[in-house]
Amino acid sequence: HAKDSGRNSYSFFTQKMQNIARRKLMLKSQLALAIENKELSVVYQPIISIGEQKVRKFEALIRWNNFGEWISPEEFVGIAEEFSLIKPLGSFVLTQACLELKKLKSQGFTDIIINVNRSVFEIPLNKSENDLWLNTIAEHDLQPQDICFELTESALAPDKRNNEVLFNQLRSAGCTIALDDFGTGYSSLSYLRRIPIDFIKIDRAFISDMSENQSDNILVSTIIAMSKALGKKVVAEGVETLEQLNLLSDLGCDYIQGYYFSKPLPSAELASYLTDFSYHQ
Ligand code: C2E
Ligand code: MG
Ligand code: MG
Ligand code: MG
Repeated sequence: HAKDSGRNSYSFFTQKMQNIARRKLMLKSQLALAIENKELSVVYQPIISIGEQKVRKFEALIRWNNFGEWISPEEFVGIAEEFSLIKPLGSFVLTQACLELKKLKSQGFTDIIINVNRSVFEIPLNKSENDLWLNTIAEHDLQPQDICFELTESALAPDKRNNEVLFNQLRSAGCTIALDDFGTGYSSLSYLRRIPIDFIKIDRAFISDMSENQSDNILVSTIIAMSKALGKKVVAEGVETLEQLNLLSDLGCDYIQGYYFSKPLPSAELASYLTDFSYHQ
């Protein structure tokens, strides 16, 4: 009997693996088509400056409706990375973000910045790929200062030393760089010295339990103090409550992003969000 049930759980396991593999391959080919046919869309989540009490930035976030089913970027960005689709995906998002920003500027919203996520797999391999990003920005009559690139800690791992050179190029051109999901990756504090980062985004995992969990609270206040000492601005991600906002504000956090202010918004809603925005909701 033991042998039978062993065989059953084995085949159950392989069945499950096969289903996962099948879904992945299916999504991969559908995603390739969706990118080609420009069927992806981009939404924009407001980032609010606590000091100025106003909206200073939007983070561009990719969305994919695949025949009526919303696929999470957590799932398909990974697939794009695995199957060499991340560069076309990334250039689609950057182009959309530039179009959006150009539109906002023409509507009089001149001091907004858009943050664009960059996967470690789309880090330019050389200077000419780096220039491609800068060219996209320039082609839309924007300045490098208008775009901030968000990278996760894995992009800064010691075996990615060459990235340093490329970040420096982007940064000397005028783009800013944010370190995304801070605290969740292979944190090596040494790269905070090495790499030119302007913003540190504290991952939502630390923010969500701040009010109940004393050690999360200590971690967040320490990250903020350290970032400030290093001359970097701090963004808190995933802020959902007024209590979290107040705690972060008291700790000296610079920017807030999260459902407390707004979920990511479609392009058509940005101008009215900016016009109607009130810090004290
Ligand atoms: P991320 O860059 O850390 O983006 C923040 C995520 O947190 C977004 O999820 C956003 O919708 C969500 N979020 C913001 N505020 C709250 C909140 O108050 N509560 C909760 N529960 N969630 C909140 P989303 O849009 O599903 O994106 C997930 C991840 O997928 C992103 O994490 C990023 O790593 C990746 N991603 C999204 N768009 C792109 C893209 O255009 N390019 C690349 N390379 N990755 C992307
Ligand atoms: Mg991000
Ligand atoms: Mg993040
Ligand atoms: Mg994330």
